[in-house]
Amino acid sequence: MDVIDIHASCDGDFIAAVEAESGQQIAECYQCGNCTAGCPFTFAFDIPVSQVMRLLQAGQKKRLLTCKSIWLCATCESCTTRCPNNIDVARIMDVLRHMARREGYASERGVKIFWDAFLDSVEKHGRSFELGILTTYIAKTGRFWPDMGLGPKILPKGKLGFRPHEIQGQKQIARIFDKFRQEQRS
Ligand code: SF4
Ligand code: SF4
Repeated sequence: MDVIDIHASCDGDFIAAVEAESGQQIAECYQCGNCTAGCPFTFAFDIPVSQVMRLLQAGQKKRLLTCKSIWLCATCESCTTRCPNNIDVARIMDVLRHMARREGYASERGVKIFWDAFLDSVEKHGRSFELGILTTYIAKTGRFWPDMGLGPKILPKGKLGFRPHEIQGQKQIARIFDKFRQEQRS
């Protein structure tokens, strides 16, 4: 078990920034573990979500902004739903992702590339186009063979469309992305 010297490494400004951006009170978490128990990605996280909350209370900025968990989180909101203190944990994970990007902690490879490819796809088509995301991901990472084994599993289930599905609200969704960029610039 790692021992953290809180006096030496607690970044109070970081805690305040996450609280301001998420609208959540970090100190309200009493470490019951309900969020981790319900998180479908605990098996893949390097830091379980309840420990993310604990490290946040301890102001461990670098450790949190460089962890894999914030990128593997699927924003399913199970943690938020299960929290007995009504903490919007999923919102906190989202804020940590944004901070990691803004402050240059996010790796340019791996999950960040997948995340960007997903958002580009939603902006362009109004929803995700899996084959397009996969193609972009492989082109940018060079990761081809590690994912090949998934093809035979998902193709028969119709999970990998060969053409994007267009949706009715496509232009409105593109406008949301435009608005976000305008607000980022202002
Ligand atoms: S929102 Fe993220 S952290 Fe919370 S339960 Fe879902 S995958 Fe886990
Ligand atoms: S469910 Fe809520 S109170 Fe319990 S550990 Fe998670 S964030 Fe903390």
